[in-house]
Amino acid sequence: MLCRFHRILRGDRLKAILGASSFTRNFRPSSGLDMRLVQFVEEGGVFPRVGVELSEGGDVVDLSACDITFPREMTGFLRGGAELLESAKTAAVSGKNIVKRDGIKIQAPVTRPDKVLCVGQNYKDHCEEQGAPIPTEPVIFSKFSSCIIGPGDDILYPDVSDAIDWEVELVIVIGKAGKNIKESEAMDHVIGYTVGHDVSARDWQLQKNAGQWLLGKTMDTFCPIGPVLVTKDELPDPHKLGIRCRVNGQTMQNSNTDQLIFKTETLVSFISRFVTLVPGDIILTGTPPGVGVFRKPNPIYLKRGDVVECEIDGIGTLTNKIV
Ligand code: ZN
Repeated sequence: MLCRFHRILRGDRLKAILGASSFTRNFRPSSGLDMRLVQFVEEGGVFPRVGVELSEGGDVVDLSACDITFPREMTGFLRGGAELLESAKTAAVSGKNIVKRDGIKIQAPVTRPDKVLCVGQNYKDHCEEQGAPIPTEPVIFSKFSSCIIGPGDDILYPDVSDAIDWEVELVIVIGKAGKNIKESEAMDHVIGYTVGHDVSARDWQLQKNAGQWLLGKTMDTFCPIGPVLVTKDELPDPHKLGIRCRVNGQTMQNSNTDQLIFKTETLVSFISRFVTLVPGDIILTGTPPGVGVFRKPNPIYLKRGDVVECEIDGIGTLTNKIV
């Protein structure tokens, strides 16, 4: 009998023969896969593992301890499709192989994805704050995946800027590959959501480098995500969630994802007209009002020592310090 890992290898070979679309067309996650997935390392450990958080901020089921053939990082786990998700669900309810929260370090739920896509000007109330017109199609930009960090990791204050700003965002995580995805089928390609912080150097984003946003958005450590990847079955409505950002305990952003102009289905469909989405890709969906650059009478920017908390109801709080 083939172990799960060998079945995955066989699936990869099949995918190579048939092409990604033929392979992924058969992946239909069953309903009821409500889970809070994390990547973690044990104290003193080096290699990450994938786990299932039993409650928000609670203990974690170590999937690798349940089955040593489980992929040890999230993108590999997601490529395993419905079969691995169902195995994880079974492991999560087994009551076995639980590691205590205080003995582990939670990492970003996805590290080194193929693509980090971002959406600009995607909250109605944020457009009103800037006096900007509501976009008629999504404004897409990107970050390099190398700038992803996890909860509790430090955001490095760069030497090249003195205008560092906060942006809390709902993050879509892709679970199934696709190109030219119809809006009606977009949710089949989404595994779930996490919290993101689109750290931004406003001088480099808005004033320098001929208007290219890239450098101002992708400096090292400028993409904290986490603490957990909540599967879509766990969230009754991702477009009706309180979303907040606090700096040193003071609320700076306080809105709701019902203010999103382009929602998950539209974003996934629109982006996939241009690029093939693959498991692990993340889409930061834009930020609500209250960012530092538009503060009156003067902008407020982050400084070393500041602690930023990004929070979305039903997902969790992502906390990072500027150093
Ligand atoms: Zn943003």
